[in-house]
Amino acid sequence: FREWETQKVRTTCAYCGVGCQIDFSVKDGVIVDAKPANGPSNQGLLCVKGKFAYEFINHEDRLKYPMIRRNGKLERVSWEEALDFVAEKILKIKKEFGPDAIAGFSSARTVNEDSYLFQKFIRAAVGTNNVDHCARLCHSSTVAGLAATLGSGAMTNCIAEIKDADVIFITGSNTTETHPVMGMYVRQAHRMGKKIIVADPVRIPLAEIADIYLQINPGSSVALSNGMLHVIFEEGLEDKEYIEKYTEGIEELREIVKKYTPEKTAEICGVDKDLIIQAARLYASTHKSYIAYAMGITQHVNGTDNVSSLSNLALVTGNIGKKGSGVNPLRGQNNVQGACDMGALPTDYPAYQKVFNPEVQEKFEKAWGVKLSPNKGYTVTETIPAILEDKVKLLYIMGENPMVSDPDSNHVKHALEKAFVVVQDIFPNETTEYADVVLPSKAFAEKDGTFTNTERRVQRIRKAASVKGECKDDWWTIMEVMNRIGYPCHYDTVEDVFNEMRTVTPSYAGITYEKIEKEGVQWPCPTLEHPGTPILHVNGPGRGRGLLKALDWIPSPDTCNPEYPIVLTSCRILYHYHTRTQTDKTPGIHFTAPRNWIEIDPSDAKDLGIQGGDWVKVSSPRGSVYVEARIADTLRPGVAWMPFHYAGGANVLSDSEHLDPVSKIPGFKQIGVKIEKV
Ligand code: SF4
Repeated sequence: FREWETQKVRTTCAYCGVGCQIDFSVKDGVIVDAKPANGPSNQGLLCVKGKFAYEFINHEDRLKYPMIRRNGKLERVSWEEALDFVAEKILKIKKEFGPDAIAGFSSARTVNEDSYLFQKFIRAAVGTNNVDHCARLCHSSTVAGLAATLGSGAMTNCIAEIKDADVIFITGSNTTETHPVMGMYVRQAHRMGKKIIVADPVRIPLAEIADIYLQINPGSSVALSNGMLHVIFEEGLEDKEYIEKYTEGIEELREIVKKYTPEKTAEICGVDKDLIIQAARLYASTHKSYIAYAMGITQHVNGTDNVSSLSNLALVTGNIGKKGSGVNPLRGQNNVQGACDMGALPTDYPAYQKVFNPEVQEKFEKAWGVKLSPNKGYTVTETIPAILEDKVKLLYIMGENPMVSDPDSNHVKHALEKAFVVVQDIFPNETTEYADVVLPSKAFAEKDGTFTNTERRVQRIRKAASVKGECKDDWWTIMEVMNRIGYPCHYDTVEDVFNEMRTVTPSYAGITYEKIEKEGVQWPCPTLEHPGTPILHVNGPGRGRGLLKALDWIPSPDTCNPEYPIVLTSCRILYHYHTRTQTDKTPGIHFTAPRNWIEIDPSDAKDLGIQGGDWVKVSSPRGSVYVEARIADTLRPGVAWMPFHYAGGANVLSDSEHLDPVSKIPGFKQIGVKIEKV
């Protein structure tokens, strides 16, 4: 193609929470090239997914027509027939078993407007709070851990500020693979002489440039934070003025960390005590210490405590509310932050307004013109068991693939076989195999709307490619179902949905499409005149006083025992996104990482008689998978890792029963397994 013959369309990458800006070149409704734009979070950079992984949009496997399952097979039907059938089923189940027999999974991949309308559909039109989405499985412990201690469950600072930090503490995040553009910033910061601390059970690429690398045992993060705090208090490195002015709970915290001597912490974490002392001194040496973390912190049965323990470190050293500091969760999928903000959570309306607060309930009843339920709904991890216990009869899924993403795939399969399942998606996948109705959706490059990236920045996505078959906007489909089940509503455009959402969402009230036309705005943005908020907690933590939580390290009740002696940790890799429904349909990406594998420590491999390239059987009490073994010295003995993207892989092994008591997140990072050569 010739450059001057193409149309340029600026949009936001849909592959991770960095929210890079892309300029698509479009010819006759087909995207022919992608170039990095100079967005606030990507500054002219793109990773391999942003640059190349748009080819799936024209893949021949795209879902193009609505389908209903008849005699075991999905058959093409008209939109009218499919929507009438879904509505009839919802009304029948609601009448027979009540609204709580219906549940919905919204999506961290679709636009904010889709998630807003989806939770309104479940709450106002169906009449239950059984709405959640896959943030339950990645960062629900961030929302719980940071909201409790700081007053906001979101990234405190900006992505690009990583270069303003003096010290960057990366824990539980393989940043160069999971948030590649941010990984490039860390490398740039290192070249500028900034200090890097890495704590991770896997020797990630950034460990190679780290000033201090702590190869901690999986699940020992609370102990590491407590050990660092012990040193900070012992050596008087805390920020006494900040603690006095802005925090509560200091005495209880001081007391509990007394027992976390460097020796004891070293024993729990499995690292040299001197490294813990050095890390504490370095982290506390400046007011520009930037913590970045991801699912290595959150995906544990004590994930909320892990998150709060990082908040303790930042509050005690006064590393909150200042440029280049803060506690910064890196959200995996493109719109995890937005889907949470929009209230696709069983306890929260948009902007984290609680469903059990009578004043909030009254506000939404007035806005939406219906009586609303004050009861907490089921989380994703509670919905599957509720189906198996006959409490939930119908599951409506928008843009999620629980057969691959949720823990214990066999248990998910039994639930999907039992319930009436409606799926809105762009490709047939492992979950549509169990769907009773399939409704085809537009892909991100075929639609308009907004995403909110991991730094709370609301940005536009714009239609670039022509629409395939009879695919519809997700918000349109939901609106049609709402009308058919007796909740009349009408929106002409996606912007109409956004503008309604603003009226009930204080942190988005001042954000308009016009305002974010050129560059995104970071919430909170309460009024039209407000410029947005790059850094949270500038005048002290949002909750008033930052809560220092006295946390004890609790060994995980993971299933490791003599029968399952290896700790398997599941990980994200650079070349795939979520459950591969998109990246698997992008030839260049697919061929780079076409199938699953497990990485094993050389000494474990020797003990088990396994060589690189051998096929092995990996088993947990939930099931077994067969994969290729790779031997890597990036691990410590007794620890292995496997990507989570592949069907019939890590989540066949993971555990759905032991959950974090607060956030209900499973322990994907500590799965007890045995490995045998096949
Ligand atoms: Fe897309 Fe994330 Fe890569 Fe940026 S870093 S191009 S948002 S996948």
